[in-house]
Amino acid sequence: MRWQIEDTPAQLEFRAEFRSWLAQVLPDGWVAAVEAGDDPALEKVKAESGFNPFAWQGTIGRSPYAAPLWPKEYGGMSGEVWMQQVIRSELVRHRLPTVSINLLGVGLAGPTLIEHGTEAQKERYLRKILSGEEIWCQLFSEPGSGSDLSSLATGAVGDGDEWVVNGQKVWTTIAQFAKFGMLLARTDPDVPKHEGLTYFVVDMKAPGVEVRPLKQMTGSSEFNEVFFTDVRVPDANRVGQVGDGWRCARTTLMNERVALAGISLDPVSFTGGVRRHPWQSYLEGVPDRTDPLVRQRLAQLYIESEVKEITAYRANSARLGGQQPGPEGAVNKVFNAEYNQRRSSFAIDANGMAAVAWVPGDQRAEGRAQTFLRARANTIEGGTSEVLRNQMAERILGLPRDVEVDKGVPWAEVRRN
Ligand SMILES: Cc1cc2nc3c(=O)[nH]c(=O)nc-3n(C[C@H](O)[C@H](O)[C@H](O)COP(=O)(O)OP(=O)(O)OC[C@H]3O[C@@H](n4cnc5c(N)ncnc54)[C@H](O)[C@@H]3O)c2cc1C
Repeated sequence: MRWQIEDTPAQLEFRAEFRSWLAQVLPDGWVAAVEAGDDPALEKVKAESGFNPFAWQGTIGRSPYAAPLWPKEYGGMSGEVWMQQVIRSELVRHRLPTVSINLLGVGLAGPTLIEHGTEAQKERYLRKILSGEEIWCQLFSEPGSGSDLSSLATGAVGDGDEWVVNGQKVWTTIAQFAKFGMLLARTDPDVPKHEGLTYFVVDMKAPGVEVRPLKQMTGSSEFNEVFFTDVRVPDANRVGQVGDGWRCARTTLMNERVALAGISLDPVSFTGGVRRHPWQSYLEGVPDRTDPLVRQRLAQLYIESEVKEITAYRANSARLGGQQPGPEGAVNKVFNAEYNQRRSSFAIDANGMAAVAWVPGDQRAEGRAQTFLRARANTIEGGTSEVLRNQMAERILGLPRDVEVDKGVPWAEVRRN
C-alpha cells in the first residue's frame, strides 16, 4: 500500500471546502469523472469544454486559493503552508495546473512586494499577478553576472523623481510576454558590489526597453536578451531603499528556489487519495518493464521521487507562520533538478532508437525529447547546483566561506571581463 499522510480534522474540512469550490467552477461532468477515476471521461469533458489554462488562471486567481499564504487584503487567505499542500494535491487530483502561468509573478515578485513594497505597490500589483492579467519577468542575470549576481553592471542614475536605466540583461524568461519586470540595477558604483544595488519595477513596454528572444535547443524561445537604453523608471517604482536592492533580491532568490523546487516531472500527491497511480503514464512510456536493469532503475527513481516529495512537504511544513524560506530551499532545488535529469534521461534510454527518431506527430515521443532537453536547464536556472551546494556548505553545514577576492572593494575598482 502506498504511504499516505493523513489529513488532520482542519485539513479535512479545508479540503472539503476547496472541493466544493472546484465543483462550482469546473465544467459539468469534470468532478464526477474525477470521483469515478474515469480518465477518458475526464479527457472528454476537458476537450469539449475547451479548457484554457489562461482562463483557469483568471478563475483561481480571483479566488483566495491561488496564494493561500498571501495576506487576505491582497487576494490571499493569510493562511498556512498546509493549505497550500491541500490545494496542490486537489489540483493534481482534478488534473488542473499546479503551476501558475504567471510563475515568476506569483512565486517571486509577489512575495518580494509583500515583504519590501510600499502599500501603493501592493495595491497596484498583487491582485493582477494572481489573476494572470499582468505577467512578470525577472531582470537579474547579465552576460557577465549570473552566479556572481551582485557584480551586475546595468546602471540606474537618478534624475529628479525618475531613474534612467542603461544596460543589458540575459536569460530573461518570458520577457516577450511580460508587462512588468523585477529589475536589479546598480545605483552606486563607488561602494562594494552588494551595497550599490537598488530594486525596481520596470514597465516592459516603456520606451527604450528592447526584448530579443533567444532560441533554445528545445526549439522554443522561452528566454530573452533585454536591452535598456535611457529607460525612465519613476522613483515610485523603487522597491525598498536606495542601495538596499540586494536584501530585496535575496527575498526573490529564496522564493525562486522554492518555486522551482515545486516544478517536478511527477504530478505526485500523497495526500487526498489520487486514484490513478501518479506514475502510471510514465510507466506506460517504458516499453520493456520485464528487463531486470530497467526495473532496478525504475525502482530507484521511484524511491527518489518519494524522498523528494516528503522532503518538500517537511520543508514546507517547517515554514509555518508565513516565514520567508531559508537556505533549506537550496536542498530541494538541487535534488529536484538532478532528479528531473535522471528521470528524463532514463525515459530516453528505455526507449532506444524510438527516443531519437519518431514518426512526425507522435506526441509522446516529442514530449519525451522535449522534457529531456529542457531538463538540462534545471541545474542552471535559479542558481546552479554547484553554487547552491556552496551555499549549503556555508549556511547549513557551517563550512568556511568561498573565496571572495572583491570583498570590501568598491565595485568600480573590481576587475571584470
Ligand atoms: C532556462 C533558464 C531560465 C533562466 N531565467 C532567468 C530569468 O528569468 N531571469 C534571470 O535573471 N536569470 C535567469 N536565468 C539565469 C540563471 O540564473 C543563470 O544562468 C545562473 O545563475 C548561472 O549564471 P551563468 O549562466 O552566468 O553561469 P556562470 O555564473 O558563469 O557559471 C558558469 C559555471 O561556473 C560555475 N560556478 C560559478 N561560480 C561558482 C562558484 N563560486 N563555485 C563553484 N562553481 C561556480 C557554475 O556552477 C557554472 O557551472 C535562467 C537560466 C536558465 C538556464
